Amino acid sequence: MSIAIAIDGPAGAGKSTIAKAAARSLGFIYVDTGAMYRSIGLFVLRNGVAPDDRENVVPLLKVLKLSLARNDKGEQLVLIGDEDVSGLIRTEQVSMAASKVSAIPEVREYLLGVQRDMAKTENVIMDGRDIGTVVLPDAKVKIFLTASAEIRAKRRFDELAAKGETVSYDDVLRDVKERDFNDMNRPIAPLKPAEDSILVDTSELSLEESIRLLINTIKEKI
Ligand code: C5P
Repeated sequence: MSIAIAIDGPAGAGKSTIAKAAARSLGFIYVDTGAMYRSIGLFVLRNGVAPDDRENVVPLLKVLKLSLARNDKGEQLVLIGDEDVSGLIRTEQVSMAASKVSAIPEVREYLLGVQRDMAKTENVIMDGRDIGTVVLPDAKVKIFLTASAEIRAKRRFDELAAKGETVSYDDVLRDVKERDFNDMNRPIAPLKPAEDSILVDTSELSLEESIRLLINTIKEKI
């Protein structure tokens, strides 16, 4: 039987960086489910469809050829057809589109099967919003990783600035809050801690401290 670890939490809590490092240390496969929603967001934008226009988004799922691959470092790549879109999905515009398409039930249904299948055969650390509550309710360890909205916006702002994107902190904070609101208030699979999850707040922790805490928390449980 494979072991699954679910890591959920709001945007910018450091989930992907922390989960990736923990997966490497524990020898698990890291699965970034946000990247899948982002790829759908990108595809929808490219097709000139508004990400909240359910009627026109749903037919696009039939023509979208989404797949996952690994590079030689074992990192997850997302492909649309043959195109590696892993870099292109990391913009603010795509973040917002992902948040909107993720509220569409057919989009969630489409990805649910893909995500569950991955956890059937591999030991995974899967990060997202609904992994512990919906996708892998029987996960061996469930972590809800969070930090204050201001700290999360600051981290995101620094990340974008380092990539040369010109954004203002206030805009990033507004986007973080808007995404939180969308993610927590959508009728299906809203962002919330699973009842049996362990709450980890990284507001006051450095990245190294967060990684260590996560690894220790997981090791205690498996
Ligand atoms: O984690 P990341 O910020 O890359 O996710 C992008 C968006 O995808 C989130 O704002 C959220 O709306 C959506 N998402 C989701 N369920 C997941 C993972 C991501 O709804 N399991």
